[in-house]
Amino acid sequence: MRLLLVEDDDHVAAALSAVLSRHGFRIVHARSGEEALQALLPADKEPFGVVLLDLGLPDQDGYEVCGKIRKRSAIPVIMVTARSDVRSRIHGLNLGADDYVVKPYDTGELLARIHAVARRGSAVEDTGATPLAALRLGPVHIELPTRRVSVDGNEVQLTRKEFDLLALLAQRPGVVFRREQIISEVWRTSWEGTGRTLEVHVASLRSKLRLPALVETVRGVGYRLVPPSA
Ligand code: CA
Repeated sequence: MRLLLVEDDDHVAAALSAVLSRHGFRIVHARSGEEALQALLPADKEPFGVVLLDLGLPDQDGYEVCGKIRKRSAIPVIMVTARSDVRSRIHGLNLGADDYVVKPYDTGELLARIHAVARRGSAVEDTGATPLAALRLGPVHIELPTRRVSVDGNEVQLTRKEFDLLALLAQRPGVVFRREQIISEVWRTSWEGTGRTLEVHVASLRSKLRLPALVETVRGVGYRLVPPSA
């Protein structure tokens, strides 16, 4: 698998490249945000499976780079940073990062996370190739293959995680999904701090769809989707 390593510290990059190469990854190293974005431009090469993105870069903030990557690609992004506070994690995940690893990290854990997001990335592509049905819930129309959502025929722009969350709840309208279950399915993680992220995404879904009652909070348990009357 090709992996784009965005890291301005050559020592860190060399050490990490050595480990990752031993595990079968083909590393392309970018030292700045601009280099990273250039490397991701469509080429006739095999696409990258994962981006490992350091947040402290010389030319632009890693968050900014993540936002730009997400605007043009669904490639899995793992943020690697020394900033461990919950607010930073939420900010990163809201920008579309798939996971967040805090330095100093355990190499085994990093590898596990890379494999997890890469698996999911290819699963997304597989689903995209299958003409799966669309879901309709009153005025809400969810097209699974194209990941498009519209309300009363008007397309609504959702982030990747917002879509995943909506699609998950919409699979079984009326059924309560536990918080841990949602976090595990949408974020593929169980770390502390994701709970708040979940709340942020639910709030954002409610407001973007302009259907505040669509996703109901089941206090102490989780959430369920209440099918709106058409
Ligand atoms: Ca750095």
